[in-house]
Amino acid sequence: MRVVLLGPPGAGKGTQAQVIAGRLGVPAISTGDIFRANVSGQTELGQQAKAYMDAGDLVPDEITVAMVSDRLAEPDAKAGFLLDGFPRTIAQADQLRDSLAEMGHALDCCLELVVDEDELVRRLSGRRMLVDGVWVQREDDKPETVRHRLEVYREQTAPLSGFYERAGLLTRIDAIGEIDEVTRRALEALGADHALAQDAAGDRAED
Ligand code: AMP
Repeated sequence: MRVVLLGPPGAGKGTQAQVIAGRLGVPAISTGDIFRANVSGQTELGQQAKAYMDAGDLVPDEITVAMVSDRLAEPDAKAGFLLDGFPRTIAQADQLRDSLAEMGHALDCCLELVVDEDELVRRLSGRRMLVDGVWVQREDDKPETVRHRLEVYREQTAPLSGFYERAGLLTRIDAIGEIDEVTRRALEALGADHALAQDAAGDRAED
């Protein structure tokens, strides 16, 4: 299955991407994670991306699209993938559609996680990550940058919702609630019934 996970920063895309991809048996590909790994590894790509990321701006399309094309060409992504954080502009979505078409493939679904903005600001401002055993705030989760990232989302990424709706690929789910509950809604929306059945069997085994 080839899925794009869409939603504003703080909607829980990273968490859900890992779980849903695991249930679907496809790799979760997060452009934010790939960029962060390159920043920590001080690669050329990381150096190109860092200033944009710290400011809460999007990394230019050429850089991002080239990186994703390389990743999608890897063997584990041949049979399917779940993209988290890509595409983020209409130009990226056009490129994704075209490069999949060149490989004889197409997206199956764009799953949008819907969360209202007050909740997003609250979640992002309280979010911490573990670095070398210490909990730290991501540079781009600082309050002033959070507002800007939400603005960038509204202006450049939110139009993708209409883009995928017109393509007949959009499914929206309410992403407020317990993580398991949101995962359940997501799998149901994707029609991943076998994954739900496995889930129920697992729950019974645990009882
Ligand atoms: P994320 O972890 O998805 O919130 O991404 C963190 C940052 O990485 C973003 O604020 C952007 O600076 C950059 N980034 C991630 N994905 C993309 C993308 N598809 N296009 C441009 N920049 C991106």
